[in-house]
Amino acid sequence: MTNTSFDIEAHAQDFQDKGPADILRFAFDNFDNIAISFSGAEDVVLIDIARRINPEVKVFSLDTGRLHSETYRFLEQVREHYGVELDVLSPDAAQLEPFVREKGLYSFYKDGHKECCGIRKIAPLRRKLETLDAWVTGQRKDQSPTRANVSVMETDGAFSGPNHTLHKFNPLANWTSKQVWSYIRANDVPYNELHSRGYISIGCEPCTRQVLPNQHEREGRWWWEEETLKECGLHAGNLES
Ligand code: SF4
Repeated sequence: MTNTSFDIEAHAQDFQDKGPADILRFAFDNFDNIAISFSGAEDVVLIDIARRINPEVKVFSLDTGRLHSETYRFLEQVREHYGVELDVLSPDAAQLEPFVREKGLYSFYKDGHKECCGIRKIAPLRRKLETLDAWVTGQRKDQSPTRANVSVMETDGAFSGPNHTLHKFNPLANWTSKQVWSYIRANDVPYNELHSRGYISIGCEPCTRQVLPNQHEREGRWWWEEETLKECGLHAGNLES
C-alpha cells in the first residue's frame, strides 16, 4: 500500500501520548514502503519493537566511511541478532573523491561539518528517501535544543519534493534516555560497546567524543561548533523550525 494523500499532521495530535508500539503499528498499517533509519541505541529499540509488529520491517544505515570499528561490529551484531536485511548506504565516490582530494580528511574542524556531512550522509540519505513514502527515526525531544519540538509523526519538509511527500515517524520523541536504556536492559537489546566507555550520542569517529557526568549527550558531537547548529542534516527540518 502506498498512501500518497495521507494527512499525517491530522493524526499527530491523537498519538502524542501514545507509546512507540502504537505509533509503529499505525505507521505500518498506513505505509508498506517504509523503513527504519538505524545508527544508534534508540534505533535498535525501534527495530526490537517493530520486529514484533512487522517481522519484515526494512532497515537502512549510513556508512560514512568514518565510523568507529566498534560501530561496524555493532551494525553486524544487529543484522544477525534480528535477522533483518540491513541496507548499508555509501557515499557517492564521484562526490567524495574530489572533496577529499581538495580539502583533505579533516576539513570539518576548520570550516564546519556541513560539507562533509552533506557528501557522506545527506546525499546517500536523500537517494534512499526518494525511494520511500515514510521513514522511522529514533529522535527524542530531550536529545538537544534542536529536537525539543519533534512530533511523533510529521511531514518531512527537508526531504519531500514537489512530486513526493515523505512522511516521518519519531515513535520515541517523548521518551527519555532513561526509558530507552531501561528498555535495552529489560529486553537484552544489543548496543554499541562504545556506550560502556563514556560515549552517549555516537556518530563518526572524528566528530564524536566521550562526555563527562552531567554533560549533555550532544556535547560529545561536533564540540567545536555552536549548540543550536548541531544537526547533521538528517533532521535539517528541526533547524528550520
Ligand atoms: S560526522 Fe564528521 S566525519 Fe561524519 S560525515 Fe559529518 S563531518 Fe564528516
